[in-house]
Order: sequence, then C-alpha cells, then structure tokens
Amino acid sequence: MINVAIVGSGPSGCYIADMLSKKLDGAQVDIYDRLPTPFGLVRAGVAPDHQGTKNIIRQFERTFSRDNVRFMGNINIGSDISYQELKDSYDVIAITIGALNDRNLGITGEDLSGVYGSGEFVAWYNGHPDQADLNPDLNCNGIAIIGNGNVALDISRLLAKTAAEMGSSDITAEAASAIDSSPVTDIYLIGRRGPVEASFTNAELSEFAELDRCIALVDPAQMPASLPEGIDPKEAKAIEKNLDTLRAYAANNADSKPVRLHLMFCASPLEICGSDGKVSSLKLEKNTIIDGRAKATGETFELPVQSVISAIGYRSEAIGGMPFDSDRGIVSNNEGLVETGVYTAGWCKRGPQGVIPANRSDSMTVAKQIMADLEATPPAGNKPGSAAIDELLQARSVKTVSFQQWQTINEAEISRAVDGKPREKFNRISEMLELID
Ligand code: NAP
Repeated sequence: MINVAIVGSGPSGCYIADMLSKKLDGAQVDIYDRLPTPFGLVRAGVAPDHQGTKNIIRQFERTFSRDNVRFMGNINIGSDISYQELKDSYDVIAITIGALNDRNLGITGEDLSGVYGSGEFVAWYNGHPDQADLNPDLNCNGIAIIGNGNVALDISRLLAKTAAEMGSSDITAEAASAIDSSPVTDIYLIGRRGPVEASFTNAELSEFAELDRCIALVDPAQMPASLPEGIDPKEAKAIEKNLDTLRAYAANNADSKPVRLHLMFCASPLEICGSDGKVSSLKLEKNTIIDGRAKATGETFELPVQSVISAIGYRSEAIGGMPFDSDRGIVSNNEGLVETGVYTAGWCKRGPQGVIPANRSDSMTVAKQIMADLEATPPAGNKPGSAAIDELLQARSVKTVSFQQWQTINEAEISRAVDGKPREKFNRISEMLELID
C-alpha cells in the first residue's frame, strides 16, 4: 500500500486525490481538513450567488466515496498533528492549503474599525467558522472596495444586490440580513491602474448591467480611446470586451437607481482616515499609467466612506516545520516539490491566482509528478499511514469528522434552509460537532 496524505480539501487537494486514488496502484488517500466540512474555497470562497460554480462538488463527492479515499475533517495539521508526524506516517504528502490570509495595504488607518480584508469578509458571508463573529459594520452610506480583480467584483455585487436577487444563493441568513439593512448608497470600486490593466473578467463585470437597485458608473474621462500598442491579441480581445462593458456603464444615469457602484481607476489608497477609532473617509492619490505601471501624480482626493474592504490578494499560512517562503506567502517549492515525498499545488504553491480549472491542471501536473517519482523510487513500505495518526488523535482527544458525518451536516444544512435557498450553512464548528454527536 502507498499511503498518501493530502492537507486541505479544496479543489486542488480534491483533484490530486481524484487522480491518485484512480491511477496510483495500491494508493490509500487520506484528505485532511481543519474544518469538519470539505471543499475549501468551493464552499467558502466562491460567491454564494454563483451556485453553478459549486456543481463541481458532485464530482468531488464521488472521489470522497471511493473505498481508498478517507476524509479526515476537523484535524489541524500544525496543531493537532505536526508536519513531522505526518511525514513519519505517510509515503507521500500533498500540501493544498490554499491562501487564506489577507495581504495588507500597508497604509495608515488599516487598524481602524470598519476596515476588512476580502478574505475575512468573503469568509463571513459564506459562513466560514473563522469569521462567524466578524459582524462587519455595514451601517454606512459609502463603502470602498480596493482592487480590480474578481474578488472585488464579487464583494461589490453582493453589497449591491437586493435580498430577492440573493434569494437562491447560500449566503448566511446573518450576512443577508446585515447587507439588506445596510443604508449604503455609494460603493466605490477602486483600481490602482486603468481599465485596460484591470484583472476582472467580463462575465463578472457584466453582471452589474442588470441589477435591481444598483447602477454601475464610470467617469467617461477615464476610458481610453484605444488600446495601447503591443498587447497580445488574445488578451486584447478580453480587454476590449471589458472596455465595451465599461463604456456602457459610462453612459448610465447616476440617478436611475438608489445605489451607485462607482468604478474608479488610476487611484491608490494613501490613508484610511478615522474619527473615534472608526473609518470616516479614504484618502487616495491619482496615478498615471506608464508602460502598464501605475505612477503616482501627487494629486490626492478623499472619498466619504465609513467602511473599506481591501481585495488585493492573499498569503498562505506556514505550518510549523514546513518549508515556507515568507516573502511570497507560499509554500517553498520547486515546480511543486517541497522536499522528498512532499508536494504542493494550487494557491499555496503559486500564489492566489487562477480559477478552479487552472487549479485542476496544476493538480494534474503535480499528481503526475508524484506518480513518476514513486515509479523511479518506490517507497520502502514502512510508513503506517492513518493508523498511527488515529492513535495520536485518540490520545489527544481530537475528534475526526468522516465523510459520512459531513454528509449528515450537509443534509441538516439543506433541510433547515427556507425561502428557496439551497442550504443554510452552520458557521460554528461546535454546532456541527453537536449535530454528528
Ligand atoms: P487579482 O485578480 O490578482 O486582483 C487583485 C487586485 O488587487 C488587482 O487589481 C491588483 O492591482 C490589486 N492590488 C494589489 N495590491 C494592491 C495595492 N497595494 N493597492 C491597490 N490595489 C492593489 O486577485 P483576486 O481578485 O483576489 O482573485 C484571485 C483569483 O481568483 C483570480 O484568479 C480571480 O480571477 C479568481 N476569482 C475568480 C472568480 C470568478 O471567476 N467569478 C471570483 C473570485 C476570484 P494590480 O493589477 O495593479 O496589481
């Protein structure tokens, strides 16, 4: 038997588990997650109103149901079980823990009440137990969202949609109610570079064209007359599509709906200003774009916002003893190899870039590498696998959540949902453990 441990049950981990459990002779694949719930960002990162993206879970469920695959939920590698203990027990380890920690803006005022990172904000509305108590202050008229990626668009859209528009989503009841009762009238989505350099994709950008209560706006003066020279033709097509959408937004009437989404470009946050410890405004500096790079002009302006959400990327978290590149916030690796027998894939390998299909192909590459390495150097066959880990967990009174027990939690979430929602998530680990006890 070849004992394989996968740390992290998000898409990257699931794809490696799928391939190794099918293609690696004699493989026993154990998938660890620190939560009692599997599927990582598919459950707690993908926007709750993008239910179609979550359909991939059905494929992962088939992987978890194989005889040679075991889900070991509610186990934190690094605290419940050490990295060394895992290495002592398994022939192969794949680290697929994603990138959950928010990158900092590094400006004054970031510690004020009313400032959130997209990681914590998204986790909150998606019912991730880490942020069950975030309770963000949305009792404000103006909210700034920093960043021009799809995460910034997700957050803007969720703040802009009505309760009816979120009706078939699985946003938590608490988050839905907080957003619904927010008096927000102006959402500012701020990119430090221009519309040409924005990293959001057109399907997501276009969703603002038809919202019930929110109108998307762009200052026509910020729209380029044409594309700069030298852009790759494939990329140019995608950019042109975004520019068309933005031009349509530039022609919108600001008074046509009660909530305005201002897509603002070429501005970098300078300072989050506060009064009584809370956000009172955001100071920005205008940029010009030279050869695709933002260059500060020295000209500043201020936005009347009472909340700031930064959506500027993530860092992975180090596990004690595991090689970690602190500068980049990723697991140290050479093309996916961390050290003998230990591999990594997904956002913790490459940084927080790419949608689920991109992570699938990364996981396939790493899984193939694992199989090639095992063929070249077969394992000694003396690693005990989960038997040793089970003993340690028992001695430490750590409760493992199995896939079957997750299915009990899953069914309970589905059956307690009301008003056409697909599920009402439990966002506290204690609630989930009580349920399966
Ligand atoms: P992203 O696409 O890399 O966007 C990050 C944004 O933050 C960029 O606009 C970047 O600007 C900006 N930024 C970085 N540092 C900054 C700073 N100090 N000040 C101001 N702005 C700063 O990342 P993401 O939005 O977090 O998304 C991560 C990945 O998940 C992406 O691949 C995304 O496509 C994917 N995703 C997809 C979906 C979907 O398909 N619906 C939804 C969510 C996420 P610069 O470009 O100037 O660096």
